[in-house]
Amino acid sequence: MVQTHSEVKRVEELRQLLQQASYAYYVLDAPIMEDAVYDQLYRELQQLEIQHPELVTPDSPTQRIGERPATQFLSVRHNIPLYSLENAFNIDELQAWDQRWRRQVAPTEAEYVAELKIDGSAIALTYEDGILVRGATRGDGVTGEDITQNVRTIRSIPLRLNFDGMENIAKVEVRGEAFLPLEVFKQINEERHKAGEQLFANPRNAAAGTLRQLDSRIVARRRLDFFAYTLHISGMDDASIANTQWEALELLQKMGFRVNSQHQLCQSLAEVTDYYKYWDTERLNLPYMTDGVVLKLNSFKLQEQLGFTQKFPRWAVALKYPAEEAPTRVENIAVNVGRTGALTPLAQMRPVQLAGTTVSRATLHNSDRIAQLDIRIGDTVIVRKAGEIIPEVVRVLKELRPADTQAFIMPTDCPVCGQPVVRETGEAVTRCVNASCQAILKGSIEHWVSRDALDIKGVGEKLVHQLVDKGLVHSVADLYDLTAERLFVLERMGEKSAQKLIEAIAQSKNQPWSRVLYGLGIRHVGSVNAQLLSEKYRAVVELASAKQSDIAGIYGIGAEIAQSVYQWFRIDANQTLIERLQAAGLQFAKTEEIPVMDNGILKLKGKIFVVTGTLPTLKRDEAKALIEKAGGKVTDSVSKKTDYLVVGEDAGSKLEKAQALGIAQLTETQFLEILED
Ligand code: NAD
Repeated sequence: MVQTHSEVKRVEELRQLLQQASYAYYVLDAPIMEDAVYDQLYRELQQLEIQHPELVTPDSPTQRIGERPATQFLSVRHNIPLYSLENAFNIDELQAWDQRWRRQVAPTEAEYVAELKIDGSAIALTYEDGILVRGATRGDGVTGEDITQNVRTIRSIPLRLNFDGMENIAKVEVRGEAFLPLEVFKQINEERHKAGEQLFANPRNAAAGTLRQLDSRIVARRRLDFFAYTLHISGMDDASIANTQWEALELLQKMGFRVNSQHQLCQSLAEVTDYYKYWDTERLNLPYMTDGVVLKLNSFKLQEQLGFTQKFPRWAVALKYPAEEAPTRVENIAVNVGRTGALTPLAQMRPVQLAGTTVSRATLHNSDRIAQLDIRIGDTVIVRKAGEIIPEVVRVLKELRPADTQAFIMPTDCPVCGQPVVRETGEAVTRCVNASCQAILKGSIEHWVSRDALDIKGVGEKLVHQLVDKGLVHSVADLYDLTAERLFVLERMGEKSAQKLIEAIAQSKNQPWSRVLYGLGIRHVGSVNAQLLSEKYRAVVELASAKQSDIAGIYGIGAEIAQSVYQWFRIDANQTLIERLQAAGLQFAKTEEIPVMDNGILKLKGKIFVVTGTLPTLKRDEAKALIEKAGGKVTDSVSKKTDYLVVGEDAGSKLEKAQALGIAQLTETQFLEILED
């Protein structure tokens, strides 16, 4: 493939940055970026080098293991090189690794040993006649640093091997991970903080830094620990000693080493996947840090057949957990106009894998935020997605900024309707104030149908855009005039799905007054405020005629919210909207607290249930069906909006949360009684 000028430049940029990072990480033990970010940039470089092999240089970070050792310790040549591990970041990559090694050997059944990937520092230990004679860091894999004095302070490293029955073995080489338990790591950082010293970024760097302390007394105090995972015995070809990784781990234990007890023998990749998934959450309960799972082929014979690449064994792979932060390139900054008319700059980025999903857009909030982070189009940025939070840009990697980046300029006219936008003094937000702007209309309909508002299933962003663009809907109220026939004009809309949509829209007429109020999208009225307002004003007429000062008097509602609500009801177009929605049958008054008899139907109208634990007779799905049949709604998690928690045996965190929020609990019997009442 012909390389372009920008690719050559990118390769140089990446190399420079990775080299800097690697030095900071391995030599100074003070990383300048997160591991996940390093991995991603490394991969980008690797990809470019695969496409253009002529760009590979011997000093490229992809060609090296670790860093050259620092100078304060004696350099030692490893008896057997210490390799790195190939990385896989998901199950697909794991399968690709599996297929790769299988192509190199005759078809074979294989067992795998899955081990936790301990986030520490690799060390190599040499024993002669059973006595520890040398401990060394990995260094660049070929040469490491002699840290024997420090290694001797680690209690879980035997100074003399338990050698029963193996007296004639002269030389033993053991590799494993030196690490700091989380508790100790925290303590060290607290002490460093008090002493005004720079904090360690993570336990791994703290372990590496500790191992390379010149004063062994400090090392001894830091209580490093060690898990052994590799055993080389000269004359290992003597098959009676150990034929497999599994046996080697057992032997290490017998010799007096600490071996991590979570390793598991797996017969298939499916078993490996289960192990990986299990530890994804369970690892958070471990007293030490792990960053993935290491998978090794169990048979030493197979390992020998496969051998090593320049950097790693072909018979092992590190399966890492998805990162919550990753670097990517900002390709453009678009502007989104929301339902309040706010113009939100949106970074359009090169798609990147983040916490298990592909991310290509991130909010940049407003122009102040862009200025503060100094983000330009063309920059490489770090994006973060933690839990369910919308991805956001955390910072710019300025070291990678190309010369031709473009600054972002907030438009002076609305990008949707073309009318001038306004930024009030003291406000960070720029707004379109044209009430008939299509973007505002689309945004308000999206809000109306959203989960916490009227929760109209099947009406998503795409459909809303079509409804507005085709002129079928000019206001939220128009949704209730739609018919299945009118929906046929839309793309890929069959009779059945049109009918389903109409039904879903009709269902929303059962949603309670508080949700309707929230759905109206009055500025500052989020779902909690809507709840507060609907408790005090049990019908829309009461709220519409309330004095501003009375609204402001509600506990939890401030002056700003009260003013916004008061003004909203003074606008004629909003009054018309309410009249139309009322005529359509939406709930503008609070219904009774207790499920009411309603000819046996919809007794639980508007009530939100959560079912937890094992119920004595009903299956979860059956309970759900009963609730929904009676007009109630079932959600997965307990929140302030939950009306009832139906509790069975072995209920866990949901029950605790419900108790904390004071939410009514029902046993299955009580629940059935309400239905039968
Ligand atoms: P690695 O950490 O991805 O994997 C190899 C290492 O895993 C081994 O050397 C060993 O120390 C460890 N390990 C833990 N448990 C093990 C087990 N049960 N069996 C075998 N090995 C086990 O690779 P690496 O070459 O040590 O380092 C590369 C990594 O270092 C990158 O993935 C990157 O995240 C990090 N790094 C970060 C920066 C930065 O700036 N943040 C810079 C350079 C490198």
